[in-house]
Amino acid sequence: MKIEFLGALNSIGASAIYLKTEESSALLDYGAKTGETPPKPPLSLKEKKVDCIFLTHTHLDHSGFIPLAMKKFDAKLFCLDITLELTKLLLLDSIKISKEEGYDLPFTAKDVENLSKKTVLVDYENEYSFKDIRVKFLNASHVVGSAQILIEHKNKKILYSGDFNK
Ligand SMILES: [Zn+2]
Repeated sequence: MKIEFLGALNSIGASAIYLKTEESSALLDYGAKTGETPPKPPLSLKEKKVDCIFLTHTHLDHSGFIPLAMKKFDAKLFCLDITLELTKLLLLDSIKISKEEGYDLPFTAKDVENLSKKTVLVDYENEYSFKDIRVKFLNASHVVGSAQILIEHKNKKILYSGDFNK
């Protein structure tokens, strides 16, 4: 299991981690650097492939560029039902803001709507498999639907905390 940080290093925003195993290429969040205009995506996914994305929670610094990664790679998204619904609203809102402020985001309202077609809805505490990795979403008590994600591959486990509150 190889891990690469694509964003949020020493700063807030654009959270994204790239995780690679023998069979799968996954993203943990793919957020926007929201303090900037226009908001910036995490480091480029050029020369990478992504076949699934695990989303911890709805905030745009974790979800803001997911439609870009989804359409580029035809990836599957794993998240809670409420996270999908809230994220779609926030993304549509960010498109609205981009129009008002006069810049283009690299995805459209249609791309946002299309997220639902490729989403695997998960529940807390259940285990899901994707190729050679297993994941479990644990309640992170940060915002509604927020999760920490436990990832298992062979005999290794990592916990991606995302944002969490005690
Ligand atoms: Zn957050």
